[in-house]
Formats: sequence, structure tokens, C-alpha cells
Amino acid sequence: MGVENTDCVVMYGGGLTSYEAARRAIEKYGHDATHIWFADTRTEDEDLYRFNRDVEILLDHKIVVFDQGMDIWDIFWKQKFLGNSRIDPCSKYLKRVPLRKALEKKYPNWKCIECHNPWNKKEKTISVEELDGSEIKIPICSGCIFNDEEYKSNVEKLEKIIESIGESSSQARVAIRPLDGRVERCSNDGRFVRVVLGMDIIADCDRLHRARSYWRPFENWFPLAEKPFGNKTRIIEELQLLGVRIPRLYTVDFEHNNCGGFCVKAGMGQMVHLYKTLPERYLYHEKKEQEFQKFIGSDVTILSQTIKGERRNLSLQELRLRAEAGEDFSFSRGLACSCLNPASAAEDEIGW
Ligand code: SF4
Ligand SMILES: [Zn+2]
Repeated sequence: MGVENTDCVVMYGGGLTSYEAARRAIEKYGHDATHIWFADTRTEDEDLYRFNRDVEILLDHKIVVFDQGMDIWDIFWKQKFLGNSRIDPCSKYLKRVPLRKALEKKYPNWKCIECHNPWNKKEKTISVEELDGSEIKIPICSGCIFNDEEYKSNVEKLEKIIESIGESSSQARVAIRPLDGRVERCSNDGRFVRVVLGMDIIADCDRLHRARSYWRPFENWFPLAEKPFGNKTRIIEELQLLGVRIPRLYTVDFEHNNCGGFCVKAGMGQMVHLYKTLPERYLYHEKKEQEFQKFIGSDVTILSQTIKGERRNLSLQELRLRAEAGEDFSFSRGLACSCLNPASAAEDEIGW
């Protein structure tokens, strides 16, 4: 599908790759069709806000802020649940749910990209089961079944496969592909939309796949997965040429500019790195973890450690004391942020 009659909603996170995704979105779709959405966790590094202002000036485009009036700790309190590497209520309630709701509101309708007939939820759908057990459900355009022989025969072929060998077969997963994307979400005035994420395919193949399945039925566009591929070094060089300072967390080796270098999904290495680079911030979160434990009446922790097959809680205080005593915690950069593409959409109770 071309770019006409299509909006671009950039899920902007305040980092280098989301800046580059926004820049390319404007370049391809134009200012009027591009919307840059930023979910503020109120846990961000101060310099992120400076960078966002610089980006607005550089791109000559306003960033729309989604602010829930809460930070990540407010969410843990409210949900009575402490985020950890597997479950992240912080990004769910501060980022994914508000952004998703806004998207549903702005693009509430459906129509066929070929015949432009509207489609509603009572009409035909076909489902197959993904390898991971999730459901791929797609709307079928009745107008095209009548008028497009190829489309009609593809629908019939898929239905026969499902009838004979089932919806969880690899043949069904292959046969649904040509039908996928025929009917898309659109706004009240009929505009389609691309949800733009700043991931690149080289580092993020698995995340790309997860993102696609999470944002269904909305269609994604990953501009950095297209040539020239997203490459942080090149983005940094280009920004420097334009006189824009990169967010300071990158200059002290953080992989991304989320939640001020702190993240409940980060491992021990990144946490110790945070302590070494921004000790006050680490101590603040250490204190918040202790306050949360008192509040909930249990020694829950963000981190855990598995020793000889046994998993045990690891508090931020214990980690700090061990690091201070000289224990080495390797910090592997390259762990990508997955705030906007969780392991499963079911976790966010998303479906249609
Ligand atoms: S960056 Fe980490 S701590 Fe912050 S919202 Fe996302 S998952 Fe939660
Ligand atoms: Zn159609």
C-alpha cells in the first residue's frame, strides 16, 4: 500500500532510534500525516526532556505527550505488584495501554484497502494459530470475495486447509498470509494508519515479530529495518553534525534512554552499572523497593538470581553491597528495551 491516505503514528521513546524513526516517518509520509506520541513514565532522565525539545525543533514537529500523572512506583503501589524481568505493569499502564487506547480511539473503523468497502466486527473473520499458540484473526472482505477471483480462491483454499488439517497447521499459517492486511483499521475520515517503531531487524528480529503480533490488528512499519539500516553510531554522527547533543545516558554506555537507566527488566549488570554511573538514582530505587516491601508485607524484589537451579530474590540493597564488596557483575549492552512489545498481547488483555 502506498503512503496516500495513510497516517503514521510514531511510538517515540525519547531515544536515538525513535528520533530516527520519527525523522523517516516525516520524510516518507509528510508532517500532516505523522503523529509522534511519547509516553512519559515520570521516571525519565532529565536530559530526555531536553532531547525531546531539541527533536521537536529539529524535526519542526510537535511531540504529543501521554502522561498518566504517575511514575513507575505509583503503578507498582496501585497494582500491588512489583515489576520484574517477566512482568512489567509499569510499561503496561504508563505506555502500552494509554497508547493503544488512543490508537483505538483515533482509528476505530475498518475498511478494505482494495475495494474500500467498510467492514464491521459482525462480518466474516478467519483465524489460525501461531507457532507460539497465539491467535491470528483476520477480517475477510465480502465485497472482494464477490469481485476478486484470486482473493476468493485464496479464502477458499485457507478454509479447506483449516477444515482438513486444522487451524494450527503450518499450511494454514502459510495460506493466511496473502489474505492478511486486506482489511485495515481506519479513522472516521477513512485514513489508514501505520504504527511506527524504531527497531531494526538486525538486532531485533525476534522483537520485530513480537511487536507485529502485539500491535495487531494495526499494521506496523519499522523504518530502521529498511535501508539505510538503523545504526546508532550513524545516528549519533548525524545528530552531532546538526548540533544536537545525544541523550546523556548513551554517553555513559546505556543502551537506551528509558526510565533514566533504571528498568525492572534490566539484569544485575545494568543495575550495577546504574549504581556506578548514577548512584543517587540507584539509591532512590533501592529505598523505594524497601518501602514497597513494607507496604506489601513481603520481601519481593525486582531482581532475582538463580544459583544451582534455585531461584532467590535479590534486593537492590544486597546487589549494591555485593558490588561494593568487589563482586563483578558483567554488563552486557545490547539488551533491547521491550516496553512496547511484550512477550504476549494476552498479558495486556488486548484483542478484538
Ligand atoms: S523502561 Fe523498564 S521500568 Fe521503565 S516502563 Fe519500561 S519496563 Fe518499566
Ligand atoms: Zn474489499
